[in-house]
Amino acid sequence: MNKPKIWLSSPHMGGNEQKFVNEAFDANWVAPLGPNVTGFETDLEKYLNNNVFVGALSSGTAAIHLGLVLLGVQPGDEVICQSMTFSASANPIAYLGATPIFVDSESQTWNICPNALEEAIKDRMSKGKKPKAIIAVHLYGMPFQVDSILEIAHRYDIPVLEDSAEALGSTYKGKKCGTFGAVGVLSFNGNKIITTSGGGALVAKTKELKEKAVFLATQARDAAPHYQHSEIGYNYRLSNICAGIGRGQMEVLDEHVKLRRKMHDFYVHELKGIVGVSVFEEPNSDFYSNHWLSAIVIDSEKCHGKTREDLRLAFDAENIESRPLWKPMHLQPVFQKYPYFGGNICEKLFENGLCLPSGSNLTDEDRSRISTVLK
Ligand SMILES: *Cc1c(COP(=O)(O)O)cnc(C)c1O
Repeated sequence: MNKPKIWLSSPHMGGNEQKFVNEAFDANWVAPLGPNVTGFETDLEKYLNNNVFVGALSSGTAAIHLGLVLLGVQPGDEVICQSMTFSASANPIAYLGATPIFVDSESQTWNICPNALEEAIKDRMSKGKKPKAIIAVHLYGMPFQVDSILEIAHRYDIPVLEDSAEALGSTYKGKKCGTFGAVGVLSFNGNKIITTSGGGALVAKTKELKEKAVFLATQARDAAPHYQHSEIGYNYRLSNICAGIGRGQMEVLDEHVKLRRKMHDFYVHELKGIVGVSVFEEPNSDFYSNHWLSAIVIDSEKCHGKTREDLRLAFDAENIESRPLWKPMHLQPVFQKYPYFGGNICEKLFENGLCLPSGSNLTDEDRSRISTVLK
């Protein structure tokens, strides 16, 4: 009597995805360009409030890679990156032969700490190495301290690459996440708030920057009847089939945000009054999270010695997926030799934090099974 698996975050189709995919088949637009790609980009531009230009790409990782290329990152350069994140935020720094400089989080949003960021910039500059870019992440959909981070970036004249892969639908002071950085990045991987089965996007402030991104994403082909190239290109464009899924998903994005936020409210309600357990919440009304993943931190000393691992195993025994928070990059074997600035905030979050099932397609029965384990 195996109970069905409850996933952390699984794809949730709205209904019209197949219609757009069928249109692509009917017109034989089975290619990495076509009307669904253009339509999906227009939908995203409208959603992000029309003052940005979106290029649909094959993944969020590809978007970060191209974003760093557009910001001029070259071999030997240094790039600052929030340590507490998914590896895809940092890997493209290595693709370019640049050096990652990792920075701790602050405890309110769990994202890059303004003080540690400034400390890192000053230290690198004193060594004659001014960082080429800052990668800041809206973790689990929670906006980072946008004003403070942008102020520091502006003061030192270092561009911000805004990793909004987890934060489509989140806002800071009423403005959509993804639109704050010199370059913004979105992901439509299978576990994200909307999915194209796999895909991503680069958000640019100007039409020229978007066109440059699309040029690089389609093998950097010069205008000539034959194939001619003056720059190194990539094959990073989103396919017209996947973009069709994306167009259908855009119709239900707001509903997904609502449902994910409802899952968060469910956990707040379930865990109210339980000493030693805190649910990850917005610090104040400037921050509006899509709550892509709901997360908690367990203080085991106040919690009868129960740890986040006890809870994870209890969920696992009921065929319910949960996962420790992101393991900081500066603690990863592949990255531990690089400089790190800050204290132990992200390390403590990793030790005591757990992500809980958060999908927009969870049912009352799923919630009841989750509730039983929590109790
Ligand atoms: C998912 C994710 C990415 C990468 O996106 P893909 O589309 O999976 O390549 C980058 N950064 C963060 C923070 C992510 O969660």
